[in-house]
Amino acid sequence: MSQTIGEVTGVPTGLCIGGHWRDASDGATIKVLDPATEEPIATVASGSIEDGIDAVASAYEAGPAWAARPPRERSEILRAAFELITERSSAVAELMVRENGKTLADARGEVTYAAEFFRWFAEEGVRNHGWISTAPSSGNRIVVTHQPIGVSVLITPWNFPAAMATRKIAPALAAGCTVVLKPASETPLTALYIADLLAEAGVPPGVVNVMPSSRSGPVIAAMLDDPRVRKLSFTGSTEIGRVLLAEAARTVVDCSMELGGNAPFVVFADADLDAAIEGAMVAKMRNGGEACTAANRFYAEAPVAKEFSARLAEAMGSLRIGPGLDETSQVGPLVNAASRDSVAGPVDGAVDAGAELLAGGASPDRPGFFYEPTVLGAVPPEAEVLHDEIFGPVAPIVAFDTDDEVVAKANDTEYGLIAYVYTKDLARGLAVSEAIEAGMVGLNRGIVSDPAAPFGGVKQSGVGREGAHDGLMAFLETKYIATGW
Ligand code: NAP
Repeated sequence: MSQTIGEVTGVPTGLCIGGHWRDASDGATIKVLDPATEEPIATVASGSIEDGIDAVASAYEAGPAWAARPPRERSEILRAAFELITERSSAVAELMVRENGKTLADARGEVTYAAEFFRWFAEEGVRNHGWISTAPSSGNRIVVTHQPIGVSVLITPWNFPAAMATRKIAPALAAGCTVVLKPASETPLTALYIADLLAEAGVPPGVVNVMPSSRSGPVIAAMLDDPRVRKLSFTGSTEIGRVLLAEAARTVVDCSMELGGNAPFVVFADADLDAAIEGAMVAKMRNGGEACTAANRFYAEAPVAKEFSARLAEAMGSLRIGPGLDETSQVGPLVNAASRDSVAGPVDGAVDAGAELLAGGASPDRPGFFYEPTVLGAVPPEAEVLHDEIFGPVAPIVAFDTDDEVVAKANDTEYGLIAYVYTKDLARGLAVSEAIEAGMVGLNRGIVSDPAAPFGGVKQSGVGREGAHDGLMAFLETKYIATGW
């Protein structure tokens, strides 16, 4: 049950359940396309409800032995996974380029980021500290420990096929939990390859089960109704996050939710404009704009709005579009036709409403789901492009006059994942960073993702944090033992 994809041999294409690779119970499959050519590159098993329940059963059976392993042993297996994924970084990067379309540079960056979650949680897993104190009124002891939460269902999106999986698998395993991962149907190959690699690193059968399924709604609903499932960790759209929170409520499953964003990128007139342009290009164009952290709307203070717009348009307009596997490409295709159309629509709408088209604005005439890096100036406040998550290479710019005005604009959204602020005045930058409703702020930084930092959003961008020590705590339950000493 494996295929050769480009230069990568032995890429598994079955379901990974209980340490075995198998077909779906009803023989269903998913076709994986290369977004740069629109051609199929692989056929992968697509799990049924029955397969999902089997995967839960296998995680449940493997749970007690994995939880009982000394933290150091689990840590060493995670460390081995870090070494292996680093050693195979070219293969993982190539798989991601082929199934997602991102450029090789983005894919290489993602492998490093993804691997780092194994190293970080190998280190955090041996720091599962409890505490003890004396009850003030009785003198009894309050003993607090943290135990693995149990079988965890992990659901990941297609935009970061490796990192979104390792950001969940690594802390779950470090905490002593066993998992069932359902990767996105567009990009199942990377997750399956990582499952194979984890077995090689010493993860016992049943601890990590990976089950692609194009029937995610009914399959995940059935898994959440199974009382053996104790945790849901989801990364994806706010729309599906809401559905899953309602489903998880039926059995009161603990939820971590990493959802959509609508990041404002604020440039004050006193900012270092070179740094702001450099930061804007990273915040906008990392992963071709297909990132929850992508700068979605740019606010430039009036005195620098024209210059910032012109310079960003020049930088965006000079990026080279092409297939991700071509080393010279700086922007790959979007993941599928629907994504490309959902980017084109709001751009056309903004231009119709009076925005200035400063760069791009169309799909190039070639196969693949490409869309030109696009900059829109003087965008009217009601334009959809300012309010919805764009998920593509589009930068709408709006001018502003005061700090209060830009904070109000930044907060005028249901989302609250991340914001970017550029100013040389650190006091002003910190004040605005505190006033913006977001789980994360890049202050004079265009990239914030770091396994050692707490990643997550407020408002409808999510619940909980991944990475840092918080990521480990998400897979632990607190237990209080009232002790007669
Ligand atoms: P999506 O449509 O919400 O899908 C995400 C995952 O959920 C996929 O595995 C999908 O499976 C599955 N899914 C879809 N419907 C489901 C259902 N009814 N029940 C259970 N699972 C279901 O999101 P996407 O388009 O893949 O990813 C883009 C979104 O992810 C953006 O909104 C982005 O902001 C967000 N994101 C957030 C973060 C963060 O950390 N906050 C990071 C990355 C991405 P199928 O593929 O089989 O449909």
